[in-house]
Amino acid sequence: MYEVEQLVDGEWLPGSGDLTVCDPADGRPVSRVPMASPADVDAAVKGAQQAAPAWARMAPADRGTALRLAADAVESAADRLAEAMTAEMGKPLDGARASVEAGVGTLRQYAELGPLHRGKALAGGAHAIDLMAYEPRGVVAVITPWNDPVAVSCGLLGAALVTGNTVVYKPSERAPATGWLLARLLNEHLPTRVLSLLTGGGDVGAALAGHEVDVVAHVGSTAAGRSIAAACARTGAKALLENGGSDPLIVDEDVDPQWAAEQVALGAFANSGQICVAVERVYAHRATAPQFLAALVQACHELRVGPGRDPRTDLGPLVDRRHRDQVHAQVTEAMAGGARLLCGGTVPDGPGAYYAPTVLADCTDDMAVMREETFGPVAPVMVVNSFDEALSRAAHSPYGLAATVLTGSWEHAQRAWRELPVGTVKVNAVFGGAPGGAAHPRRGSGQGFGYGPELLDEMTVTKVGHLAQAPRR
Ligand code: NAD
Repeated sequence: MYEVEQLVDGEWLPGSGDLTVCDPADGRPVSRVPMASPADVDAAVKGAQQAAPAWARMAPADRGTALRLAADAVESAADRLAEAMTAEMGKPLDGARASVEAGVGTLRQYAELGPLHRGKALAGGAHAIDLMAYEPRGVVAVITPWNDPVAVSCGLLGAALVTGNTVVYKPSERAPATGWLLARLLNEHLPTRVLSLLTGGGDVGAALAGHEVDVVAHVGSTAAGRSIAAACARTGAKALLENGGSDPLIVDEDVDPQWAAEQVALGAFANSGQICVAVERVYAHRATAPQFLAALVQACHELRVGPGRDPRTDLGPLVDRRHRDQVHAQVTEAMAGGARLLCGGTVPDGPGAYYAPTVLADCTDDMAVMREETFGPVAPVMVVNSFDEALSRAAHSPYGLAATVLTGSWEHAQRAWRELPVGTVKVNAVFGGAPGGAAHPRRGSGQGFGYGPELLDEMTVTKVGHLAQAPRR
């Protein structure tokens, strides 16, 4: 049992156990967690404000060194972090370990990039020095989700810290011990009060977002992101939002339906569909739709659903039963509206929050599975008559995170890349991409750069200096 503590004003506070997190594999309690009080939020922010000037003055190379040492500590504790993640949110252990490694890589990247984040000299007159420099913004509230708790947190924490901000970190109430372990490892290598940790739910996040912080960096649902944007509009803080998605995938008429099914199974069911860029809706060309659907159902039958601790498991449980109810409600609504259930789609008996990979055919635009984010192992499919129709339906969404197009046509690939109103377009590979890319999410998916080198710009402000000489006396 993890006894989670908060880090407030430089002190680890003993946990009060207000909240219990249960293992979604079997329902047994795994973490006891305090809920931050308004006084805790206030003290954490004040402590962060107090520590900000000295941390901002430290040479960026020294902050980079601190972050590098923190990354080494996280790497050494990778197994412990992965076990906590699996126990709290169900992710299969191998995937959890890979996601800790991704977090370590991100911390190391920011440790290197931070000291290289530089301003420029401006071309002023000969009797002055004109320059533009970056400064830290001050106190950054980092509010994170449960679905990839270490990698997502490492990105925001690394970029905020290396640029000289102090941080108040509020991990998800569904993965608080994972966040607590991470904060302990980082804090060992930081001056006191540079990092604080608050635990609790959305109300704690809201209290933090509405407090005297300079940036609220939130990765999470669109609903929470909108509420944070409203809070920031009132306080003047900058809102940096990486939120939900409803990513489409197009299967063009000329691709191998078997391969297309493998791509969809990977995109829709990895991490049990609980990935911001999971495939959330599929537009399959009529020419190969029957073969594609048959192959997709076959792929589902080959996936093994089980506890994340079992190395044979492909799909762990969903994060909890509340979330499973939401996923199942969307599936049930789609079936009531005329969708055909080809596999999965039932709530199993027994402990845990398991949900089998689910394929729905004959879906329509008005169904929540096609319109909203499902965030579960569900592949809703609509058969389309042309690539034009697929492109237009894919583009029509309140979200704009990413999209995938499977096609043998260079013309279709180019059109998809140009015309889809999303941050990332992937052609013929459902996951992947080169390091260093950063995309702006569109519409309800958020605002700003939530990752990549550009996140360093988001965490800083520019200042222009005109340093002229006084006349000689
Ligand atoms: P969530 O928004 O419910 O919670 C995320 C964090 O926000 C938690 O720490 C939570 O306590 C806090 N929070 C909730 N309401 C808040 C409020 N009103 N004010 C301030 N903080 C609040 O999201 P979740 O269920 O933890 O995560 C799943 C969501 O995250 C999905 O929508 C997924 O797409 C999204 N996500 C997006 C990305 C991305 O890069 N775009 C990455 C991972 C997850």
